[in-house]
Amino acid sequence: MERVLLTHGHQDHFGLAARIERAGKAKLLGGRLDRGHFRGTRNGRFLLDALTRAGFGAAARFTMVAMTAAVDRFAEPLSSWDEVGGGEVLTGDGWSVIVRAVPGHTPGSLTFEVPEAGVLFTGDTVLRDITPNAIVDEDPERPGEAFRSVSRYFETLAGIAAGDSCLLTGHGRRIPDFGAHRSRLESRYAFRVAQIERVLAGKPKAVVELCERIFPTVRPMDLYLAYSEVLGFLMYLEDLERVERLPGRLRERWALLPRGSWHSPPGRRPTHPG
Ligand SMILES: [Zn+2]
Repeated sequence: MERVLLTHGHQDHFGLAARIERAGKAKLLGGRLDRGHFRGTRNGRFLLDALTRAGFGAAARFTMVAMTAAVDRFAEPLSSWDEVGGGEVLTGDGWSVIVRAVPGHTPGSLTFEVPEAGVLFTGDTVLRDITPNAIVDEDPERPGEAFRSVSRYFETLAGIAAGDSCLLTGHGRRIPDFGAHRSRLESRYAFRVAQIERVLAGKPKAVVELCERIFPTVRPMDLYLAYSEVLGFLMYLEDLERVERLPGRLRERWALLPRGSWHSPPGRRPTHPG
């Protein structure tokens, strides 16, 4: 029996998997923490509440909820697949596949390394020409809370030991030298951190205000990506105790803490000189 290994639960990466499985051609294997993605279940209430707290008006909320529902239609939900959590080694005749959990881009993202071939399949966790956007989602391990996508992604990035492997990415070209690529990625993420801190200087702001300042010309279709980027980085800065969240009756604001009080808690060190 052939196997199809799913790097993560985004529609453009498993859209036809159900059809393959139904045809009896292959068994599917995917990350346990992307179960909701693979099943096509989404907590609409969580998303609406989060967008309201972020300060978006009704029209923007409607656009974003409609957009996420439309994207869901690009994939047929899966009914059966083997769930893995990372750490497994699949073996065959003269080859092996090392499965690793790489949370960030999605909670259950996986990479697959084939040492005999010197390649590492990265899905969307590492892309050559795009800095992967970690889309805000409900945390599968903490229902009701947003998955801390950027913090987890930086931990993942620091832990990728590509060695001599060539990275085969989910979109675009391969990456032969991960070390050089990681430096470029880190400088782009450091730029985003500095940008958010600059916009927050002065007075506390809601996520919607940060989106307007940082992505002033974003198309309505891309608003959810802008929102995800901003909220992900704010939660990352919250983990570093550089910003704090100020709950409000309707919308939540974020405040920059005085620079003198910043520190990096053990295990949550930023992977770049942000
Ligand atoms: Zn993806």
